[in-house]
Amino acid sequence: MSSEMNNPTNDAALRSFVPVSPESHFPIQNLPYGVFRCAHNERSRIGVAIGEFVLDVTALEDRGFFDQTVLGGRRVFDGSSLNAFLASGHTAWSEVRAVISRLLRDDEPRLRDDAGLRDSVLIPMGRVEMRMPVAIGDYTDFYSSREHATNVGTMFRGKDNALMPNYLWVPVGYHGRASSVVLSGTDLHRPVGQSSPDGNAAPPFGPSQAVDFELEMGFFVGPGSELGRPISIEEAREHIFGMVLVNDWSARDIQKWEYVPLGPFLGKNFGTSISPWVVSMEALEPFRCEGPVQEPGPLPYLSIQGNQAIDIGIEVSLRGEGSDGAEVICRSNFRHLYWSMAQQLAHHTVNGCDVRPGDLMASGTISGPTPDSYGSMLELSWGGQKPVTLPGGGERRFLEDGDRVTITGWCQGDGYRVGFGEVTGRILPARR
Ligand code: CA
Repeated sequence: MSSEMNNPTNDAALRSFVPVSPESHFPIQNLPYGVFRCAHNERSRIGVAIGEFVLDVTALEDRGFFDQTVLGGRRVFDGSSLNAFLASGHTAWSEVRAVISRLLRDDEPRLRDDAGLRDSVLIPMGRVEMRMPVAIGDYTDFYSSREHATNVGTMFRGKDNALMPNYLWVPVGYHGRASSVVLSGTDLHRPVGQSSPDGNAAPPFGPSQAVDFELEMGFFVGPGSELGRPISIEEAREHIFGMVLVNDWSARDIQKWEYVPLGPFLGKNFGTSISPWVVSMEALEPFRCEGPVQEPGPLPYLSIQGNQAIDIGIEVSLRGEGSDGAEVICRSNFRHLYWSMAQQLAHHTVNGCDVRPGDLMASGTISGPTPDSYGSMLELSWGGQKPVTLPGGGERRFLEDGDRVTITGWCQGDGYRVGFGEVTGRILPARR
């Protein structure tokens, strides 16, 4: 593996000549990838975030900065998505990261001392517009938080039958919809649809009365696999490029009526928001930690040694229309997830299903063990029975028109943060 604990690009002592505050999500230890566009140049390009700047990686490739890596002269950043880079594999990921890390170091003069080069490849973040980082072919959503599954199961089936019998054996998931995955900042209209009728009456049809967020994270698949050839759990890490924050918006009333027997459909596919910066697994390596104990032990194809969880603190804040500020309504952590990303990918492909570069796999709602760590309004308000009191006044059962939901998250290092920025979006009134 290229990504080991002593990876020099992860050294906590590294500093960039680009100023980076301790609270910044984008120190030299992070180097997340995104796709951006400048007002003065219509062409989408690939960049890496560093402090308050974007490093233009497409321009670096144009200048041959990656010619000495395994890529040779092959162009992978000459596009409007990260897909070609994702397809190039973990050796390329690691070598490109090493080149960029060295170039940004405070003791490396090549870029630091070349004002002309700096001006052409370092762009203030305020001057760029972020774009979808990846052309997502397929989107799969898992259900990997035992706490979330237990809470939802308790609400729908009672405490004694909260977890389905398959839950501790199968990383449960379903196929979502890639076309409605949107970038942070995209506002969504309240969906309309059918909900559960009273008795034998016709189902009510209209704007959802139970629009919700789901606090999730997702990963992007790297090289991908061939139809019929599973990715083993040992191989899984080489197929996972990096992660983003995900808000998997949901309409609980539509979901509750439609989900039998085939599962989630229109209550889920009206929008899924992702953050613009993709944090590589290599940057997250120092923050790996033990996950929950898996008992019963998983079947052999899902068994793997070593730390599979990652310590990523995540917060959800809500800002109502006309409100003075956003209020934090949930604090959770990615490490709570019962099923790891490697287990998700191994399970997804064990039947021979192929995956492709840029496929998005989301975790499912990440709820922690305590009520303030529940990752959806459904759980925070316990099915709407216990309204959430907002710290600044007002209350919510589900989301109201004009509500803005913002999710942020980061790994806390010693004096620095490897962060994800944020994913934000607003619920607009239903279209008439
Ligand atoms: Ca979900």
